[in-house]
Amino acid sequence: MSTETQKETLGFQTEVKQLLHLMVHSLYSNKEIFLRELISNASDAAEKLRFEALEKSDLYEGDSDLNIRISFDKDAKTVTIEDNGIGMSREDVIEHLGTIAKSGTASFLSSLTGDQSKDSQLIGQFGVGFYSSFIVADQVDVFTRRAGEPISEAVHWSSRGEGEFTIASTEKAGRGTRIVLHLKEGEEEFADGWRLRNLVRKYSDHIAFPVMMEKEAMPSADEEEAEAPEQNATPEYEAVNSATALWTRSKSDIKDEEYQAFYKHVSHDYSDPLSWSHNKVEGNLEYTSLLYVPEKAPFDLWNREAPRGLKLYVQRVFIMDQADQFLPLYLRFIKGVVDSNNLSLNVSREILQKDPNVDKLRSALTKRVLDMLNKLAKDTEKYAAFWKEFGQVLKEGPAEDYANKDKILKLLRFASTHTGTSEQSVSLDDYVSRMQEGQEKIFYVVAENFNTAKSSPHLEIFRKKGIEVLLLTDRIDDWMMSQLFDFDGKSFQDVTKGELNLGEVESEEEKKQQEETAKHLESLLERLKPVLEARVSEVRVTHRLTDSPACLVLNDYDMGMQMRKIMEAAGQKVPDTKPIFEVNPEHPLIQKLDQEPDEARFADLAYILLDQADLAAGGQLEDPAAYTARLNKLLLELSA
Ligand code: ADP
Ligand code: MG
Repeated sequence: MSTETQKETLGFQTEVKQLLHLMVHSLYSNKEIFLRELISNASDAAEKLRFEALEKSDLYEGDSDLNIRISFDKDAKTVTIEDNGIGMSREDVIEHLGTIAKSGTASFLSSLTGDQSKDSQLIGQFGVGFYSSFIVADQVDVFTRRAGEPISEAVHWSSRGEGEFTIASTEKAGRGTRIVLHLKEGEEEFADGWRLRNLVRKYSDHIAFPVMMEKEAMPSADEEEAEAPEQNATPEYEAVNSATALWTRSKSDIKDEEYQAFYKHVSHDYSDPLSWSHNKVEGNLEYTSLLYVPEKAPFDLWNREAPRGLKLYVQRVFIMDQADQFLPLYLRFIKGVVDSNNLSLNVSREILQKDPNVDKLRSALTKRVLDMLNKLAKDTEKYAAFWKEFGQVLKEGPAEDYANKDKILKLLRFASTHTGTSEQSVSLDDYVSRMQEGQEKIFYVVAENFNTAKSSPHLEIFRKKGIEVLLLTDRIDDWMMSQLFDFDGKSFQDVTKGELNLGEVESEEEKKQQEETAKHLESLLERLKPVLEARVSEVRVTHRLTDSPACLVLNDYDMGMQMRKIMEAAGQKVPDTKPIFEVNPEHPLIQKLDQEPDEARFADLAYILLDQADLAAGGQLEDPAAYTARLNKLLLELSA
């Protein structure tokens, strides 16, 4: 260490300090994952070197045998993980081992609860990475030299995982990174060959580079008292993992645990995946893909800048992380690997954008994912878990991916009047199978929340006739439905829009009778129109209501209430459309209104009914004070 120069002490970014603290406390029961994380990083580093060396073979410095070495020292209580990968420069070290680059980290960390079991789940989705070393170590030393840099340009980083780290220039003969963990008191168990080997096999078997450990002389029966190995013999190393890229192996040879372990490596996630799909395709378009559906949404699922996409390999050589060209945006939660034989090894992001093979791969992989989800949907419980995390993202699909619209529609789940709960569990196939004889449309209502949807007056006639209505309450719903026209030959109909038409569910007789009652109220409609003119475009009789006196409906092509609100909240201009006021001819209040001789009271009552209809639709009164004043006036007259 005598060669160290330019030593400085730097503070960790605040987020790192918080993460370190939380991680050490909440992941304690799973502390062994540090090894998986460090091996994962070593493997990434080896892959990056191999990629850069495609164009600059000098980077190998005469040694292209990429591997990872693990050693330990029982007496010194250290574990060392070493790779001959790409290494880091001084700037790299300061950035990667002193900050967290992910945007949104601060707000993520502040969302943690302090409850250990919950937080360990959340931190897992965040990705624990290098800093997990501090779960078992109270001092970590990193010696690293970027491939291609002179021996004297190496860096020594050291920290006790508290507030700060030191960084100094040093010398390192071999390129790459050596990480020395000084185990905490009580964590000596990790300085043990048997323990480490087991962990490598358990978590890192799938790593495509050999993970080497010193050969241990296995004491055989007659060699029990064998002497300790000679002091100066150079240790012999052997690979303890299978060191083949997992996706290149044949499906039938891969155990579920191996798929799960590999998922954690590619996704930086800490929980098991919900499902996966592994495919090898030969022919014109040759590729292997291994795609995973995570169990939990990442904290930055809704962050537009958040990195997403697959790990791209070309002929088994790692090319890039987060290649987002291979799946549409609405499948951005999928993790995994695509290994193509059709792309050239020197692809860049720019070239990818133009290569026609990319489009072909994208549509092939999209189908794979949709098929995988379709399979997953057969397991109701698992699919419910999936839907809860990713349903809203999938709802972007029908509009984004017209070609696969029908497949996506089958994957959607809704709350409905049939189940009566807010849980989104009804598929369109379920709905169609329950349609009434003569029913031609798929009915739905969009509202801000489940209760407003469920108690919407527009549902009254449907309840009476036993017709199911889908209850839509997600922010994206109004927009999504505006992009949909039909499913299985049946068109979608918003029950708050247009004239009610139940098709043949209603008999000719019923329809005739409705026309009769409507005729009786023509004079009422004529009286109402001028009174409510400022706020409604039309007044008409309806038979969609059984219990409520009146409701508001929109024209078929008007923007829905929910979308209006969202756009208004976003400060956007929305078209100025007035709703239609519909009255229930059977309701005593409407009949009373018809009989009301006093014009002033007539107007008051009409306004109250209009405001109530607005409220029932989840609207906000423009002038709540006027509403209350009118209502109170009528109440006083009642008691007078
Ligand atoms: P992640 O692997 O998700 O990026 P980590 O916390 O595990 O996060 O690592 C942070 C970064 O530190 C890596 O992205 C990489 O740039 C750098 N790094 C960590 N370990 C190594 C290594 N062995 N060799 C080269 N770079 C490394
Ligand atoms: Mg990592």
